[in-house]
Amino acid sequence: MNDEQAPAHTAAEPVPVLEAVDVTVRYPVHRARGESVHALENASLRLIPGRTVALVGESGSGKSTFARTLALAQKPTSGSILLNGKPASAQGRRARRDYARRVQMVLQDPFASLNPLHRVRYLLERPLRLHGSVTGREDLEQRLRALLERVRLTPPERFLDAFPHELSGGQRQRVAIARALAVQPEVLLGDELVSMLDVSIRLEILNLLATLRDEEHLAMLYITHDIAGARYFADEIAVMYAGEIVEYGSAEDVTQTPAHPYTRLLLDSTPDPDRMEFLAGRTNREDGEPDAATDDYGEPPDLVHPPSGCRFHPRCPLARAACRTESPPHVQVTDRHWARCVLLVEPGDGASRDTTTAEVTQ
Ligand code: SF4
Repeated sequence: MNDEQAPAHTAAEPVPVLEAVDVTVRYPVHRARGESVHALENASLRLIPGRTVALVGESGSGKSTFARTLALAQKPTSGSILLNGKPASAQGRRARRDYARRVQMVLQDPFASLNPLHRVRYLLERPLRLHGSVTGREDLEQRLRALLERVRLTPPERFLDAFPHELSGGQRQRVAIARALAVQPEVLLGDELVSMLDVSIRLEILNLLATLRDEEHLAMLYITHDIAGARYFADEIAVMYAGEIVEYGSAEDVTQTPAHPYTRLLLDSTPDPDRMEFLAGRTNREDGEPDAATDDYGEPPDLVHPPSGCRFHPRCPLARAACRTESPPHVQVTDRHWARCVLLVEPGDGASRDTTTAEVTQ
């Protein structure tokens, strides 16, 4: 395992329930030419009970591939997934069902993920019967009501016999979350699960998830392109670019003292009053506005032929000649905050941190 890619695992630290270790995923696209999509590259992540890691990046950065791999819906090309420290397996129906019970995924579009032909009652009854120990009609009825109450769909009788199309987007997403909770999972993987909702509803759903995480001690992965929302909701943030995790740390550290130029660009596109001081401090312009170069930073790279050296170099406003050919070093910014960028050891314009204590690993 590449220990530098995840925070140090000490005796005092809770044991992760789900862990990805150096996971690489490649999708073959042209076997004769030996071409494949380099979707995920040596990605490591630990999910701890009662904590949330946000996986942040733009579309096509590999976030969903990572989530699908953690859910064992995608086989890694190399690397491993550990559940409670043991290699996870989906070999055979029983192992698959057991894993799906413990690791649940909630998708972006609740309308697509809920069968429109079935009432809420059926949608929740099914996982309860498949994975639970329902003892009879009365017990089932009680569990259904309790599930809807847990996701704040009250009174439950108002929702139990509704079809998905009769519910609002937020209510549908609550049903999707209730369905995931029905099997009493240990891990919840949320793939852009609020991005299709109205802004006013997003906060309600994130608050609900935070309450469920705390009350039920769930380990959560929150996948999003919205770094501001991630700061609000997550304990740690992993920033992903072109299939690689380029920065990792506490939500506070990553958003308040971002170490990687890509994280800075993500933050620049998200207005946040708390960060105005940081932005003013790093600009090179006399009028205090962010550099123009950061306002338009081009398209994501082709992952069939990913850029050499640092994958971010074609878009990086601070790139140097060496960035085109050399892999960026892994730099430990603080105990629990690292990033991969040459500027952290050889600062230039825009690199603001003190590098005297940097711990570097190639
Ligand atoms: Fe930019 Fe070079 Fe750092 Fe990559 S290694 S983020 S190209 S400065």
